[in-house]
Formats: sequence, structure tokens, C-alpha cells
Amino acid sequence: MTGAYTELRKHLREAGALGSVSALLSWDQETYMPSGGSNGRAEQRAIIATLVHERRTSPRVGDLIASCEGIASLTEDDRANVREMRRDFDLLTKLPASLVGEIASTSTRAMEAWKDARQRSDFAIFRPHLERMIELARQKAACYGTPSGGEPYDALLEEYEPGARAAELERVFTPLASELSALIARVNATGKTEKLAVRPPAIPASRQHEFGLFLLKSMGFDMDRGRLDTTAHPFCEGLGPGDTRLTTRYKEDEFGGAMYGTLHEMGHGLYEQGLPKGDRYGEPLGEAISLGIHESQSRMWENLVGRSRSFWQWAQPHASRMLDPWFGAQKVETLYAMSNVVRPSFIRVEADEATYNLHILLRFTLERALVKGDLSVAELPGAWNALFERLLGMPVPDDRRGCLQDVHWSCALIGYFPTYSLGNLYAAQFFESARVAMPDLDTRFANGDFGALLGWLREGIHRHGRRFRAGELCERLTGRKLDSQPLLRYLRGKAAEVYGV
Ligand code: ZN
Repeated sequence: MTGAYTELRKHLREAGALGSVSALLSWDQETYMPSGGSNGRAEQRAIIATLVHERRTSPRVGDLIASCEGIASLTEDDRANVREMRRDFDLLTKLPASLVGEIASTSTRAMEAWKDARQRSDFAIFRPHLERMIELARQKAACYGTPSGGEPYDALLEEYEPGARAAELERVFTPLASELSALIARVNATGKTEKLAVRPPAIPASRQHEFGLFLLKSMGFDMDRGRLDTTAHPFCEGLGPGDTRLTTRYKEDEFGGAMYGTLHEMGHGLYEQGLPKGDRYGEPLGEAISLGIHESQSRMWENLVGRSRSFWQWAQPHASRMLDPWFGAQKVETLYAMSNVVRPSFIRVEADEATYNLHILLRFTLERALVKGDLSVAELPGAWNALFERLLGMPVPDDRRGCLQDVHWSCALIGYFPTYSLGNLYAAQFFESARVAMPDLDTRFANGDFGALLGWLREGIHRHGRRFRAGELCERLTGRKLDSQPLLRYLRGKAAEVYGV
């Protein structure tokens, strides 16, 4: 009776193994491959991608899923597994090959145009390409179908954040934005930022790397099942059972970029190592829920743990020994304040914890309006600049530092931006609940004990794979729907401690 289910699982495990070959090729490309290998690598990756796609979308998979949906004796876990297999199969098979091909070729040209446009800060170069990308995004949304009571943008969200709805995001993001703008204005008015933003002396990359490895081991990242390497654009790749690759980059005069970058990727990596990949590899129950939940794990370790006072109480003597004696000569308060400076800037990827979500709200608002047709691509630069000034209080000097800064829209990632803020919101809400469950969390961190938090995340989130949707997981774990208050409480608390506002 469960023969179909066994066959389906085997089939998906093989697709997962093929996918990890592709991931390994791309990890190698980003880390060690000589530049001369890029053409050959593109060919290898295209072949593997085709094999993975064929395997995951074959009619046999559709038949097997349909059979499994009729098996009454499946456990609750396995029913959730089949539910998510159905979702994936539908998402992969609803788009006609012609549309997939057109999105890929348009995107290749759009990305070239975007690079040129950004460099010259000339939106006119990118405009026709973006118009086409928006049109293709609408066609894609039409193929997926708008969820009942929703809007086309919801269908695009489905690729990154299953079950998320634009109206619901707006309900959470809007109060967050107005409160954050007010908080940032109060912080700015203190004029304390320059004084707080102290910098340690230059630190050789080799010492930063040793310190990064020390942090990974201390916080529970299993180095027998993972690695840390250097790259241009850091990422984490959960290759498969027992193999999670982290990457970072070093700047000698800016140790924080590498340290917080490493902690961020470690958060992703701890999630990957905690998923039940051993017996569920390639199946939804062995995979991460969504980009937002993945990002909640990276943001938690990077920010809620790594930028806490108790982290520095523990890390200070180690940083002094391994990085530079400068750290030992500071007060813990100085290190804590230095890690929590709030400074509005034009570039999203350089934004601090408090201003970051305003950058995301801006992009979410505008791309949603573009998909809806409420905003034309021609009107985008003006709309961007007006909203940026309203949210962050600064006039945008040029499109290079405005609507041309991100790669996402040129490579068809429309509906992706909200997952960054969802990560911050989930991280804060989960962390509040972790604190209730473990009131001594700060003392533990100050003593170098991060295992209790990791255990709580493993138990509440990691081991479930995709058994629950993000919203359901949040309610189970925190007793409430996602809302903006935990993140606001957290950021206000820090502003009070660091800036006295
Ligand atoms: Zn991330």
C-alpha cells in the first residue's frame, strides 16, 4: 500500500543527491575554481540542472504524489511530507518551458544592462529591461494562479515564502516602519554615533579566520560536518547530509564585516546541520521551511546573540588574545556600543539592524505596486526617492545609490525582498520566547554556553523540516502570530542602552 510512497521518497532522494552535485559545483566556482573554468562550469551546471528538473517534474512523480494523497495510513509527518511534495511539483510544473526560457534569457540581458546602468547611474539603460521583467513576473504569477482573496504578488511570494500574503506582510511591516523611522530620528538627534563608532586597529585576515573558526566551534557548528572558506559574496550551502559549507570574506581594517558575516552564515549553517537530512534527504521534511525562517536563524546568531552585551562579556578576552590586545583594553560597554551603532545610509547591504527593515519596506512597497500596475517602471526612480526620504530622512543623491543598487530585479527575484525583514521579525519573536523558556540566557552567553539556545532551536524549528508552514511554526513556538512588537521592543531596548533614548 505504501509502495508508491517508498518509490516517491527514493526518487526525491536521488533528485536531492543530484541537486547537491550542482550545489558543490557552484560552491567550488565561488571559492577555488580558477577563472578559466567558468565556461566549462556553466556547461556542467546546465546539464545537472536539466537532470534535476526532469527528475523532479517527471509525470511519474505526479502519479506517485496522487497515489500517496490517497493513502489513509500515512502518519501525520508523512502526510505533511506529501502535502509539500505536491506544492513543489505544482510550482515546478505550472510554468511552461517557453516562459522559463524567456525569463532566463531576458534576465541574462537585464543583468548586463543593470550593471552598466548602475555604473553610470543611468536608469534609462535599465528601464526597458525592467519593464520586460515585470511583465514576465505578471505572466508567471498568472501561471501560478492568485490565491483566493489575494493578489498576483502573492503568487510570486510563494516561491520564497510559502503561504505568505502581501496584505498580511503590510499589516506587520507598516507599524514597524513608522515606529522605526521615529526611533532612528531620536537616535540621530543625540549626535552620539561618531563617538560610539570606534574601530580596532587593522587585523590580518589569518587571525580573523582563526577567530572565526573559534566562534563556530564555541557556538556549536560541527566542523566535522562543515567548513569555512573565503569568497567574494559570502553564502552558506547545505550540501547534503554531513556537509555544510560556510563562506566569508576578510577586510583587514574592518574586522566586524567578517565576524558578523561569519556568524550570519553560521546561523544558516546551524539550521542546515539541524535538519533531519540523514533519513529525509531530498524530501520536504528534510528541508528548510522558507527563506524567511532560514534568515531568522542567521539573523538571530548574527544580531540577537552576536551583538549582545553578554556575547562581548564572553568574547572580549578571546578577541584580545586572538585578534588584537586592543579588545582587552576596552570596556565591554564600548564593544557593545560599537556593534550597535545606528547610522542611516543609502545602501541596503551596508545598513545596520535598525535601518535595514526600512530599506526592505521600501522595496516591498514598490515592487508590489509595480506588479499590481499601480506604479509604472518610468515612475520608479521618483517613487523610490520620495519614499526613501520619508522613511530615512535623507534625499537620495543618484539612482546608483537609489533604485539601481540591488541585483534582484534584474535576475527575476521579485517577491524575494520581504524574506529579509521576515527573518528579522521571526528572529526577534523566537528569541523573546527563548528568553521566557530560558531566563538565564544572558548569563549562559556570558559564560560561553550557547548550547541551550541551539538546543531550543533544534527542538522547536530545525528537526521539523517543512512539517509546518512559517506562520504555523511561529504560532506553535511563540503562541502568537508574527507581529512587529518583539523586534521593536528589542531595537528600542538597545537604543535605550546604547544611545540613552
Ligand atoms: Zn542570510
